[in-house]
Amino acid sequence: ANGQQQADVVVIGGGPGGYVAAIRCAQLGLSTVCVEMDKTLGGTCVNVGCIPSKALLQSSEHYEFITQHAKEHGLNVGGVTVDLAQMMKRKDDVVGQNTKGVEFLFKKNKVTWAKGRGTLRQAGAAGNLVDVAGADGTTTTYAAKNVILATGSVPVELPFLKFDEERVLSNVGALKIPQVPRHLVVIGGGVIGLELGSVWRRLGAKVTVVELMPTILPGNDEEVIKEAARVLSKQGLELRAGTRVTGADRKGDTVVVHVDKEGKAESLEADYVLVSVGRKPALLGVDAGKLGITLGTRGEIVVDDQMRTSVPTVYAIGDAVGGKLLAHKAEDEGVIAAEVIAGKPVHMHYHSMPSVVYTWPEIATVGLAEHEVKASGRAYKTGKFPFSANGRARTMGETSGFVKFIADAETDELLGCHMIGPNVSELIQEVVLAFEYRGASEDIGVTVHSHPTLSETVKEAALAVLGRAIHF
Ligand code: FAD
Repeated sequence: ANGQQQADVVVIGGGPGGYVAAIRCAQLGLSTVCVEMDKTLGGTCVNVGCIPSKALLQSSEHYEFITQHAKEHGLNVGGVTVDLAQMMKRKDDVVGQNTKGVEFLFKKNKVTWAKGRGTLRQAGAAGNLVDVAGADGTTTTYAAKNVILATGSVPVELPFLKFDEERVLSNVGALKIPQVPRHLVVIGGGVIGLELGSVWRRLGAKVTVVELMPTILPGNDEEVIKEAARVLSKQGLELRAGTRVTGADRKGDTVVVHVDKEGKAESLEADYVLVSVGRKPALLGVDAGKLGITLGTRGEIVVDDQMRTSVPTVYAIGDAVGGKLLAHKAEDEGVIAAEVIAGKPVHMHYHSMPSVVYTWPEIATVGLAEHEVKASGRAYKTGKFPFSANGRARTMGETSGFVKFIADAETDELLGCHMIGPNVSELIQEVVLAFEYRGASEDIGVTVHSHPTLSETVKEAALAVLGRAIHF
């Protein structure tokens, strides 16, 4: 051991939850250490999640534009080829800019990065002790007044199809396939499967998405799911919903995936398989049973609305506490944990937490799906406006999709908003703000929106709730 150090806060995990919590703690004047075992900061999101996937989505979207849509704009482009190595290098550069950015922010805010693997050896009334085992074999122990667990999540494996990251891929391998696959089978039609499936389809792979549930993107608003399935199929993604994967064999460079739909068995021959069937909380270095930290049914750390675990002075945030596995949720929870530690009267609420799928068209959601509002028994009204009736969308040639609002029938309070269309990842944000203020559809409907913009679709959909959309 290399002696013991003191800190007001030790954060275990340097992903979006952990690094944001650490920066906020430091801003509030707390001496802060963030333990991260990877070579770079930023966690899943920056290294093998949000950022690299969006870099590849962007590059592959450009390719699709050039090869499929440039001509209608009067642009004749010949001889376009994919330089996959360059595309991957650019992605890695973008990731590097972000990981270095986090490192810079740590320096700026005087957060100490403890490089190594953290173990919460002791927690609670007897005092918190975190051991950090460095790659060089040394161990440093931190006595921490408070601990924030931000250990993230790991991909769920199929028992008969273990990840080898060579042919059987998690998100990690699927972000760096060395050649465009002939046939990529994606198991799991959720966000990650559809985003990465879209990347490789655009680059020329045949992509088959197998989903156990009756639809892709299970749980989302049904109208959005229907439109997404229609558009993504038209683009050439083969969607097989209601289909169970029953087994798989790897023979050399081929993986044969056995599927069953309503008793009809079939074998799909793939050169690469992406298994994206969900993620589960990672509790590396946290022996919850021994430390007395209560876990939920899915192995997630149970927290209250101030991110406290069952052990005093131990907090937990991000993917490790379950709920929606989203970077911005982890970040928000990190800020709340830091502020609670600093004595501020704040709490976490999830009412206005957006979710986005970065396929093209994009899908963005905040609040409840229509089936959820219906199930609650609350009287509601809906309003919908298609991008095909929006001038800006027509100039862009991006007329698929719509914006849909659900509002309380009596008070007009916004209950849900569901968008599928161009740039809706950005358009959802004004609705999130309206949700934050518990706004009504009328608030958005009477607000001036610049013309011509895609955002007029949001205004018109809000007006449609009131039965007074102008352009449809
Ligand atoms: P993580 O980012 O998982 O970070 C945990 C960190 O803790 C890791 O770096 C790990 O090395 C470290 N760690 C764990 N245990 C220890 C230990 N004992 N000692 C030291 N270090 C430790 N979300 C979005 O909002 N938008 C997106 O577009 C999006 N795209 C995604 C795409 C993909 C392919 C994937 C896989 C995920 C995506 N996500 C996206 C989800 C997002 O990445 C996660 O929700 C987010 O990273 C969770 O942050 P976190 O801080 O809780 O955990």
